[in-house]
Amino acid sequence: MTNIAVLGATGSIGQQTLQVVDEHPSLFSISVLAGYHNGALLRDQALKYRPQAVFITDAATYKSLQAELTQAGITVLDSWDQLAAFLADVDIVLGAISGAAGIEPTLIALKLGKTVALANKETLVAAGDLVAEALAKYGGRIIPVDSEHSAIFQCLEANGQPAKILLTASGGPFRHWAKDKLVGIRPADALSHPTWDMGRKITIDSATLMNKGLEVIEAVRLFDMPGEKIQVLVHEESVVHSMVQWVDGTVMAQLGTADMRLPIQYALAWPKRLENTFPTLDLAAIGTLHFAEPRWEDFPALNLAYKALDRGGIIPAVLNAANEVAVDQFLKEKIGFLTIAEVVATTMQAFQAEGVESLAQLQAIDAEARAKALTICAGDGL
Ligand code: NAD
Ligand code: MG
Repeated sequence: MTNIAVLGATGSIGQQTLQVVDEHPSLFSISVLAGYHNGALLRDQALKYRPQAVFITDAATYKSLQAELTQAGITVLDSWDQLAAFLADVDIVLGAISGAAGIEPTLIALKLGKTVALANKETLVAAGDLVAEALAKYGGRIIPVDSEHSAIFQCLEANGQPAKILLTASGGPFRHWAKDKLVGIRPADALSHPTWDMGRKITIDSATLMNKGLEVIEAVRLFDMPGEKIQVLVHEESVVHSMVQWVDGTVMAQLGTADMRLPIQYALAWPKRLENTFPTLDLAAIGTLHFAEPRWEDFPALNLAYKALDRGGIIPAVLNAANEVAVDQFLKEKIGFLTIAEVVATTMQAFQAEGVESLAQLQAIDAEARAKALTICAGDGL
């Protein structure tokens, strides 16, 4: 039995993780669940999987579930303080919280030397140095869940010297839109992604191409490759999930359906491959695969991520924090679609590329960058 802690259980990745667990009830069991806002779903999940503990870090949701779940014999906790105690028997921590909120529990797990199946890319972007330090010091491991990084991870298992990573991007819903139409994009337009069904924040990131930018930084952190060796390729069918080019020029790709349950299952079962009942790829039905250069000028968020990597230090954390604020403000219809990248760029300019040594320092920078971005959104600094 592999005991799993699912952090962000109520989200898109969290729910699909539980579907993978349902697919293999004799292999996987749930020891810990963590959720935030969706109390009704978290309650159902807790009563179905009967974990030892449920972490609910939103105060109102905690209050609404605490009595009922405690009565059902489940320990209910409202902060990460006691997470370490409940990870003792856990084999894999599935990190599926959205945004920088995932940093703290991920670091707690890594400091216990745990294996973390990580979907939460913002943790690698914002806290890359702290994660690397924890991995080196405590001997834990990260197995990527993000589909592209799972693909690269699977390709790299073939061994050899990689020359380059070819990171594929669907291009988002606006990949074919004329430049002058981009300015009028509303949240409802951006929330319908052509190939993947995901949480709201990552869906907007996919529309701006910031998601691909975050994934470039994620790949640098996961695979120890410099940014200039990571090439983004727009591939609208989302069939090739990413590729590795070896030093001899050969390219190795991983292909599959656009179904996150596959990389989740791979991360949970690694190094094994498990059968399942999920739909399989029908290449004859797909027929043609396209690849193209990204539209750098029309989707500047991608380039900002490369800039953040170049500047280093806290700048990727600043980029991430500013982007979380800007996406939230766009979803609330306070700023326009093209303003998202402008807010991120202007916030980045306001910070020096210093380093941080602790989670507390990083959280202070994150808060400062959020405040700065919010001011810029309000029209002050643009
Ligand atoms: P989602 O919005 O559907 O779910 C987010 C989860 O995090 C929910 O369970 C929510 O309760 C929890 N959460 C949100 N804010 C929190 C906070 N402040 N504290 C504690 N918990 C909080 O998001 P998602 O689409 O499942 O994405 C989760 C992560 O996986 C993101 O980092 C995303 O980039 C990454 N990812 C998602 C997909 C996908 O297909 N959905 C693919 C690749 C990577
Ligand atoms: Mg991805």
